[in-house]
Amino acid sequence: MKRRKILVGNWKCHKSFDEAITLIAEIVANVPLELDRTVVLCPPFPYLAEAVRRTRESPVKIGAQNVWQEDSGAFTGEVSAPMLASLGVEYAIVGHSERRQFFLESDECLARKVARALAWNLTPIFCLGERWEDREAGQTLAVVQRQFQAVFALSAETTTSLVIAYEPVWAIGTGRNATPEQAEEVHAILRGLAMERWGSAVGEAIRILYGGSVKASNIDTLMAMPNLDGALIGGASLSAAEFLRIVHFQG
Ligand code: PEP
Repeated sequence: MKRRKILVGNWKCHKSFDEAITLIAEIVANVPLELDRTVVLCPPFPYLAEAVRRTRESPVKIGAQNVWQEDSGAFTGEVSAPMLASLGVEYAIVGHSERRQFFLESDECLARKVARALAWNLTPIFCLGERWEDREAGQTLAVVQRQFQAVFALSAETTTSLVIAYEPVWAIGTGRNATPEQAEEVHAILRGLAMERWGSAVGEAIRILYGGSVKASNIDTLMAMPNLDGALIGGASLSAAEFLRIVHFQG
């Protein structure tokens, strides 16, 4: 099955407002309307409204880097799914390993975030991945399976827009990407789990992105793998030239 590829730039906690606007302009100018893949930029929260405004006439989509697990209430500092939806934001990264590690986000809280995002028609990009010590202990499958099962309460109908991002923690920001074969092995397992849980149609359709030190120099071989449906890109998305080379990968 041909799944449309998605390239997502996660800017994390980088860029001033002016730098962000310049980066958006450079990317928008080089993503043609007829491009056969989806491009999503995830700037910091305060820039989202302007990012939506500046990409409105282009195929570039805007995503948030996080979303709160309730729609509203006394949760100082948090940003909810209906708030993001009201801005025209279309995607939300959920469960990035930095959120799991530094903000102690649990499987349970991430499941709620995914559900709130879906309820407001935001496409969740649900991240999961093992640490190096898990891989060395032969626990990769057990870890990603447990993390994935956190969203198994979702129905098949709601799951159609869910996007998974396999991001081995040891590959994030380290310059050391998983090999295409290592990534493909996990992606195929995740697709198999999705098929078991939601049926073959959902399993075939669900997009599974790879993240972890993706660069212009490794994107072509990664995207050649049958179960890799795009990439989540951190460091390399902060340079327009590098990110655009990734967006326009051969394939
Ligand atoms: C990320 O932040 O999701 C990521 C994959 O970062 P990097 O591309 O820098 O490894």
